[in-house]
Amino acid sequence: MGKPTGFMEVARMENPYRDEEARLRDFDDLHIPQPTDARRAQASRCMNCGVPFCQSDFGCPLHNLIPEWNDLLYRGKEREALERLLQTAPFPEFTGRVCPALCEKACNLESDALTNRDNELYLIETGFEKGWIQPRIPHKRTGKRVAVVGSGPSGLAAADLLNRLGHEVTVIERADRPGGLLMYGIPNMKLPKAVVERRIQLMKAEGVRFLLNTEAKPEIMGEYDAVALCGGAKKPRALNVKGIFAVDYLTAATRAVLTGSEPTINAKGKNVVVVGGGDTGNDCVGTAIRQGCASIIQLEMMPSPPVERLFNNPWPEWPRTLRTDYGQLEAIHRQGSDPRIYETTVRRLLPGAIETVKLKGFDPIPGTEQALPCDLLLIAAGFVGCEETTAATFSVGLNKRGCMMPDDGSHHLRDNLFSAGDMRTGQSLVVRSLADGRAAALEIDRYLKGDAQ
Ligand SMILES: Cc1cc2nc3c(=O)[nH]c(=O)nc-3n(C[C@H](O)[C@H](O)[C@H](O)COP(=O)(O)OP(=O)(O)OC[C@H]3O[C@@H](n4cnc5c(N)ncnc54)[C@H](O)[C@@H]3O)c2cc1C
Ligand code: SF4
Repeated sequence: MGKPTGFMEVARMENPYRDEEARLRDFDDLHIPQPTDARRAQASRCMNCGVPFCQSDFGCPLHNLIPEWNDLLYRGKEREALERLLQTAPFPEFTGRVCPALCEKACNLESDALTNRDNELYLIETGFEKGWIQPRIPHKRTGKRVAVVGSGPSGLAAADLLNRLGHEVTVIERADRPGGLLMYGIPNMKLPKAVVERRIQLMKAEGVRFLLNTEAKPEIMGEYDAVALCGGAKKPRALNVKGIFAVDYLTAATRAVLTGSEPTINAKGKNVVVVGGGDTGNDCVGTAIRQGCASIIQLEMMPSPPVERLFNNPWPEWPRTLRTDYGQLEAIHRQGSDPRIYETTVRRLLPGAIETVKLKGFDPIPGTEQALPCDLLLIAAGFVGCEETTAATFSVGLNKRGCMMPDDGSHHLRDNLFSAGDMRTGQSLVVRSLADGRAAALEIDRYLKGDAQ
């Protein structure tokens, strides 16, 4: 284990945010990385519990070997720690930045948990910096060809593992840049796009082919030995009023950052209302403030969550408690108050404004209507499954959640067709998509070897 008394001697310390004023002037990384000594001290806090819940089903979906790499990091064996991490984690540079760290919420130290996410990020970035991360080209090729449709985290994870297993992999992506929501969804300040691009270059050097600006056609089932549909689940939940969907807004914002141009949907000088109090809504808040909006409000239908865990939400479950994320903190800094208004929804559009109404449950409370200034209405009210086009093209039926999960819970749809990631499970998390992409790759590998027929 790390240091037996480490957790009593060293306080938990996450990578701090950059100062609000500084970070609101750009779209650069939110956090300031900490030096080696601080990282080793944080790793020393791991108690190597008899039952490490951090790597159980309550914790990391990749089942990362957390106590093992924390111990190695504490002992200054960064390279060995990184190797141990890479046994289960395909892209720690993504999860180390955007993972909500389910492992930390399941840590025995509870609110004083280890800083696994920051430790993981330190290990992989040190690996890149020191040149330890080099293309790993398979020694032997199997001669089997696999097409992966979609280059989000699930597609990349499936492609990465299938390539390592010796298959010839082609990723087919309809967008102009690879990465799925890692590229066009999660804002640059949370996940700099140069980090996504660096991994794509590495995968190319390892032999994975990327076809961009390409819509997958069903003929590929005849051209390849297996096909994995990893097209995501971005179909937005619509409202009774017209607004701009969050992913369209965030995509335009990232495109503008990458090309140095004005965004095609711009919050500059506008009163912005975001409908949806979740993480996507928070990303819209952070982006709109950076673009120079005049004001920002976030509407949430549900009541404010409790500050502490309720009795029916015990450790090590994910805590359903109030979180104030970076965008909301930035709004508080700019406007002096939390942008979130709870138990409220939008009723109709007015000239330069919207009419809101308070809710009891899901029912509007008469007489609580209010006009709020609004020049840009962003809808971040969740997702209702995958787009029907890919399902129709490949003649795949969707389940009640609008996804492609086969009844037997596997990844195998029919013949040589498989699905993975959000397209199979519904909108989820990067870490879950990575785990699902890897699980699909193993199933495809067994199929290609003839084990599953
Ligand atoms: C705004 C936003 C912020 C988020 N932030 C976080 C976060 O901070 N942390 C976190 O853990 N999770 C976050 N998530 C969730 C996470 O991004 C997703 O769960 C994850 O990206 C899903 O990965 P995926 O590979 O299944 O699909 P996606 O990332 O959606 O990728 C699917 C890809 O498939 C392509 N595609 C679809 N159909 C076709 C076709 N027919 N032909 C060719 N290409 C096709 C699409 O263009 C897309 O590039 C966020 C989600 C959103 C919307
Ligand atoms: S991927 Fe997420 S849950 Fe897993 S170890 Fe890293 S931060 Fe924790």
